[in-house]
Amino acid sequence: MVSKKAKLFVFSAPSGSGKTTIVREILKQYPEFVFSVSATTRKRRNIEKDGVDYFFITEEEFKTKIENGEFVEWEKFYDYYYGTLKKIVDDNISKGLVTIFEVDVKGALSIKKVYPFATLIFIAPPSIEELKERLIKRNTESDEDLKKRIERAEMELGFQNQFDYVVKNINLEQAKKEVKEIIEKELNKEEK
Ligand code: 5GP
Repeated sequence: MVSKKAKLFVFSAPSGSGKTTIVREILKQYPEFVFSVSATTRKRRNIEKDGVDYFFITEEEFKTKIENGEFVEWEKFYDYYYGTLKKIVDDNISKGLVTIFEVDVKGALSIKKVYPFATLIFIAPPSIEELKERLIKRNTESDEDLKKRIERAEMELGFQNQFDYVVKNINLEQAKKEVKEIIEKELNKEEK
C-alpha cells in the first residue's frame, strides 16, 4: 500500500543546466526530503562522496544488479552506467517520504511509468549556446566527454514537452523560486 504522503519529484536537464545546484538547494530547504542516490560506474569527481552523490560501483557489480532486477530503470551513456535503485525508492514510499531524483530524461519517463504519481520537472538552459559555455567553464570533463555531453544535451532538450513542468534557468534565484512553488503546489494537492 502506497502511503498517501509519499511524493516523488524527478528532475532532469541537460548537463550544465544548473540542475544539481537547484536540487541541492531544495534538499537544503526541505531537510525532510530524501535524495534517491543512484548507482553509477563513472569515476567519482573530487567533490563527490560515495553513498551520498552516487554509489560508485564497478561495471561487474552494476551488471549483477541489472540481472537481479534491482533497478527501477538504468541507462548507459558516455560509456558509463547509471541506475535508480528500486529498494531505496520503495522504502521511501512505504515510509511516506518525499523523494528527489536527478536522472536523465529517459530515466525520468521510465520512473513515471513505474510510479505514475511522480512529478517530472525539466530544468531548461536559457539556450544551447549558454549551456556549452557553462560546460566549458565547469571544466570537469575531458574534451571527448564534453563533446558527447553537448550532443546529448541537444537530444534531451527535445524531451521537455513530455514533462509535467519546465523551468527555464535564465536566472538561478528565479529558477529556484519557481521550483519551490511547484513543490509547494504538488505537496498541497488533494490526494485522489
Ligand atoms: P553526471 O555524470 O553528470 O553525474 O550525470 C550524467 C547524467 O546521468 C545526468 O543527466 C544525470 O541526471 C543522469 N543520471 C544520474 N543518475 C541516474 C540514474 O539513476 N538514471 C538515469 N537514467 N540517469 C541518471
